[in-house]
This record gives sequence, C-alpha cells and structure tokens, in this order.
Amino acid sequence: MRIVVLAGGIGGARFLAGVRATGEEVTAVVNVGDDVTLHGLRICPDLDSVMYTLGGGADRERGWGRAGETWVVKEELAAYGAEPAWFGLGDRDLATHLVRTRMLGAGYPLSAVTEALCARWQPGVRLLPATDDRLETHVVTGGRALHFQEWWVRYRAELPAQRFVFVGADAAKPAAGVLDALADADVVLVAPSNPVVSIAPILAVTELRDALVRGTVPVVGISPIIGGAPVRGMADKCLAALDVPCTAAGVGDLYGARSAGGILDAWLVDTADAGTGVAGVPVRAHPLWMSDEAATLAIVREALAAA
Ligand code: GDP
Ligand code: CA
Repeated sequence: MRIVVLAGGIGGARFLAGVRATGEEVTAVVNVGDDVTLHGLRICPDLDSVMYTLGGGADRERGWGRAGETWVVKEELAAYGAEPAWFGLGDRDLATHLVRTRMLGAGYPLSAVTEALCARWQPGVRLLPATDDRLETHVVTGGRALHFQEWWVRYRAELPAQRFVFVGADAAKPAAGVLDALADADVVLVAPSNPVVSIAPILAVTELRDALVRGTVPVVGISPIIGGAPVRGMADKCLAALDVPCTAAGVGDLYGARSAGGILDAWLVDTADAGTGVAGVPVRAHPLWMSDEAATLAIVREALAAA
C-alpha cells in the first residue's frame, strides 16, 4: 500500500513514526511555510524536524533540533551583535543548513536537496517539500507583517494575529514528485499538525489542493485538537485568528467535506470528542494521544480502516 501524509514539523514527525511502523510505502509532503533565511542560511524547520526525528538524530526533550547539540556559533554571533539573536541555531544543525544553502545556490531544487540530506538520515519514508518554490507564512499583527518564525519564536505567539498570509503561494507549483505521489497513493492522511500554519500552507499550493479535492484517493484527517485544546503548541492562537473554534469539529469544518469542495472523506477525533459532527464527513473516535509509537500506530490503523 502507498500512503501519502501531509505534515508539519513536530506533530507531523511523531505521526509519521507511527505511519512508518505500518511497513507500507510512505511519502510525507511537508510544510515549507516556516522556512526562513537567517545569517545567509536557508532553514527548513519542519523538514528538519521530520528528518531528524525519523532519522534518530532529534533532541527528544527539547522537541526540535539535534540531539547532543552545542551552541558555540550562536554565542559567537551574539558577541558580534549579529541579528537575529532570537533564533536558536545549534552547531550540529548548522551543518544541515550549510549543505542545503550551498546546494540551493548551485541550482538544485529543495526536493533534490532534501533527498540528498536524507541519504545521511535514512528516515525510512520519502520526504518531499510541498513546493520547490518560495512559499513563506507571514503573520499580520497590529498593522504589520512578520515572518511566521519571528511571530512564533521571538514573540511566542503573544502578538494577536489578524491574518496569516502564504507569500508566494499563488505562483507556487507542487514540488517534483508530489503530484505523482498523490496520483499513485492508496490513501492520503492529514497528520494531526497545526491546521493553520502547517497544513493550510501545504493546501495553499493550488495544484496540490486541486489534486486532493478532485482526485479519487480517500483522504482521512486526524484531529490535532483534543477536548478543545491543542495537545502541544499554539494552534489555539492560530485558530482564533481565523475565528475557527479550537475544537475537533472546528478543524474538521475548516478542512471541509470533499463533497462540498473540501478535502476530507473521513475525520478521526479523540474519544473525548466522540459525538463531534462535521457536515458531510463521517467521523470516527479513537484515542489520539501519540504517547508512544505503538499508540500512534494504532491511530494510523484506525485512519486506514476509515479510508
Ligand atoms: P510544528 O510544525 O512543529 O508546530 O508541528 P505540527 O504542526 O506538525 O504539529 C503541532 C500540532 O500537533 C499541535 O497543534 C498539536 O495540536 C498537535 N499534536 C501534538 N501532539 C499531539 C498528540 O499526541 N495527539 C494529537 N492528536 N495531536 C497532537
Ligand atoms: Ca512548523
């Protein structure tokens, strides 16, 4: 069986570990809206979170970046007063960004660069960026627009967001391999990732979204919201900006039924949210805490059964 997963970073990576455990052929289409250029280096936080986590190189406690990380370069940059100082670039992590930036500069698309980086990490699933084109999430707050990373990391999502803008999305094409993966898939799973800043930027690539909406492959979503709260992270603040209730039903309605121009054929919610109704979409309840790989695999099996 061929499984395609739409995913963000940390939640996406955890979910993908469970999908990989099925032993099926897995392609992850990963958000690039968080990508940013800092100190001249191209940084892809979600692709790297997935790559490091599945490749066994992630810092489990911090939740992002490399295990065994050191911060000498960051200290040296701070000694120069080099901005931005709010973004934590670890020494080990830097090597990834150096290789990526050099390859991009030589003309390789991000999909090819990602494949090259994965030759080292062997994540066990195929990682594809949603697009090889520039697509960046910006946050409109108090009359100005900030890059998503600045809003999230520097301001801890404390500046009220009025809007999220996916800069470049109108012109962005699906990355090499994405449309073929969707056409060849037996099922598409939407990971329990942040719906507003991880999944929406993927769906903002018009041809990618059209392939899902118009395709014949069943699409099953897994709710990132349990009992009215995001399990980790700040999805509540992102949903508030869209006036979407922070509930399993709110996110299900945001994705929408395929029969009504949305993407979902089925929606998986936590047992705490059993009874959730989403117009036009069959809803199943199952425990959705990804506490370990076995629990996550059970979630994936339930999603496959729904498909
Ligand atoms: P990011 O890009 O690193 O922010 O990661 P994602 O967007 O992929 O995932 C973040 C989302 O994962 C959060 O909004 C949480 O709601 C969701 N999440 C995290 N852990 C769990 C879990 O154990 N179960 C479920 N259902 N959702 C989770
Ligand atoms: Ca992210």
